[in-house]
Amino acid sequence: MGTEARLAAVAAEVRGCTLCPLAKGRTLAVPGEGNPRSDVLCVGEGPGGREDATGRPFVGPAGQLLTELLRSIGWDRGDVFITNVVKCRPPGNRDPEPSEIAACSGYLDRQEEALDPAVVVTLGRHSLQRYLPGARIGEVHGTLRRSGGHYIFPMYHPAAALHQSTLRETLFRDIRGLPAALLTAREALEAERSPAVELAPPTGDTRGDPSTGAERDDSDQQMTLF
Ligand code: URA
Ligand code: SF4
Repeated sequence: MGTEARLAAVAAEVRGCTLCPLAKGRTLAVPGEGNPRSDVLCVGEGPGGREDATGRPFVGPAGQLLTELLRSIGWDRGDVFITNVVKCRPPGNRDPEPSEIAACSGYLDRQEEALDPAVVVTLGRHSLQRYLPGARIGEVHGTLRRSGGHYIFPMYHPAAALHQSTLRETLFRDIRGLPAALLTAREALEAERSPAVELAPPTGDTRGDPSTGAERDDSDQQMTLF
């Protein structure tokens, strides 16, 4: 099965899922959306009101800020793939329970496997916790980290920055480092995956368009977002 079909299969299961109590309170489950060829996976916490009503991730006020953040580095939200650690809205937008995150984690596992992103951008504590247990956001935000087969780029949650201008500035500052982090991650993964091939220095657009580029199998060092 190709990436798109695998993602569609996960989405279909999520929409009918009753694995945890969050199923009862939801209007629509929110599987995630974006470019199936993207090398960047953004993982938030869980759907809010607008997401629950539309079935789409990050379409409320926090989503608007996320879109602005991506635009600030020349990326479109359709260039990346966006999802959450839980796919159904916690009542009253409370934090998801560890048991709910655990129940839902198989879907995110499968989305990761299907996309095989070079970089996972974690948005907020719960997402950070999944990839870097014990890490403190105040220490790791805006830096590139390793977790299993992926690189992680932790960021504060955009919702936290909506009414806090210092955090908002931090988010805009941090995301400026993402294109370079993506290039670094790609180069490192490519080197790991084809140890016999000597890497030529990167050429072309070093801004690191996140939606192209995952043609990791050829020797062309042109790096873009897909
Ligand atoms: N906050 C999240 O963590 N995820 C969304 O989809 C929307 C808001
Ligand atoms: Fe299923 Fe996840 Fe929704 Fe719980 S949050 S019902 S595990 S899709």
